Amino acid sequence: VSLEHAKVDLPHSLWAATAEPAVESNPLKSQIDCDVAIVGCGFTGLRAGLALAEAGQTVVLLDSGEPGWGASGRNGGSVNPLLPFHSPEQASRLIGPVFGPRLSRLSLTSADEVFDLIDKFKINCHPVRTGWIRTAHCRSARRLFEAQCRQWIDIGAEIEILEKPELDSMLGSTAFAMGAIIPRGGNIQPLSFARGLAQAAIKAGAQIYSQTRIVDLFREKPEWVVKSSQGMVKAQKVILGTNGYTDNLFPGLAQSVVPVISVQVATKPLADDISAAILPGGQTFSDTRRTIFYGRRDHMGRFLLGSHGTTETSDDHRDFDRIKKEAKRLFPQLSETDWEFQWGGRAAV
Ligand SMILES: Cc1cc2nc3c(=O)[nH]c(=O)nc-3n(C[C@H](O)[C@H](O)[C@H](O)COP(=O)(O)OP(=O)(O)OC[C@H]3O[C@@H](n4cnc5c(N)ncnc54)[C@H](O)[C@@H]3O)c2cc1C
Repeated sequence: VSLEHAKVDLPHSLWAATAEPAVESNPLKSQIDCDVAIVGCGFTGLRAGLALAEAGQTVVLLDSGEPGWGASGRNGGSVNPLLPFHSPEQASRLIGPVFGPRLSRLSLTSADEVFDLIDKFKINCHPVRTGWIRTAHCRSARRLFEAQCRQWIDIGAEIEILEKPELDSMLGSTAFAMGAIIPRGGNIQPLSFARGLAQAAIKAGAQIYSQTRIVDLFREKPEWVVKSSQGMVKAQKVILGTNGYTDNLFPGLAQSVVPVISVQVATKPLADDISAAILPGGQTFSDTRRTIFYGRRDHMGRFLLGSHGTTETSDDHRDFDRIKKEAKRLFPQLSETDWEFQWGGRAAV
């Protein structure tokens, strides 16, 4: 995996081209005191900042780019409940009998949390809630897939198994062996959602500083000192929400994170006949491959497909060409369709 040096400009992407306007925020150029300083204005930092500001804490949010600059403004916008890769039993094996079941149960309502926030703060981010279709990519994946679905149903998930004819017509593809729909899932315009969270956090009293890379973080008891090249925040507590863009700010943190690159391509808005055939119900889908493929439509009728990649810059076409080829294999209706956007980002594992 080759990691390019992060730039502070938003990358050219479908989401950057179609998002709601950004909130006004400037670089930090002074010294301020607060209860909680938050480094990173993605979903993690923004959601935490909003909750803390609503609870009456003084909050300062800082980002080397701007709210939604990282994975939060570049992702697929799929709002999927449950865990994306693991069953409840696998989660318990991985993180133990206390936290495994707790995480699995928490994930049952994770999509509700997102859609509730959108309603509560009236965030304009094109929410669609017609479900997430999970597909088994081959016949041999079928048995494992069914067992995983049963485990989720046993702990209270709403899942409906789709047999092939129904699956094929919901997807507009005959490429998958079987599938299941999780009706509580859906999709959003992720950069607009991040900007909406930023707006809500500011309204609740939080301050946001963009173009502010934090270069130093240390304890001067009883406070934490958070420094950029031009300013400083003194805080009782600090949250690091830097995810796949984590640098050497805090000892050992970068070593605990493996940044994984994911890349996406989007077509131009589809012609009416093709549009009616591919995901006509507006669902999101993803498959069971280790190198997961995930896809959806956007509010303008484009089709998007994403998968793992090796570089997040749009100049290297190899990943994008591979995904476009796979899109045409899964959905032969796209054989003559033009592609409009390609972009990538990093998520932490
Ligand atoms: C291409 C792609 C597709 C994805 N698709 C989906 C999907 O469809 N559904 C889903 O649920 N998840 C998806 N994910 C995962 C999801 O996007 C991430 O889990 C989520 O956005 C992480 O949010 P975050 O706030 O933790 O991190 P980020 O959004 O990455 O934010 C981290 C922020 O920290 C800032 N930062 C880092 N270091 C510093 C510093 N020293 N000083 C100041 N700021 C700093 C960065 O500028 C960045 O804005 C996808 C991820 C990618 C990359």
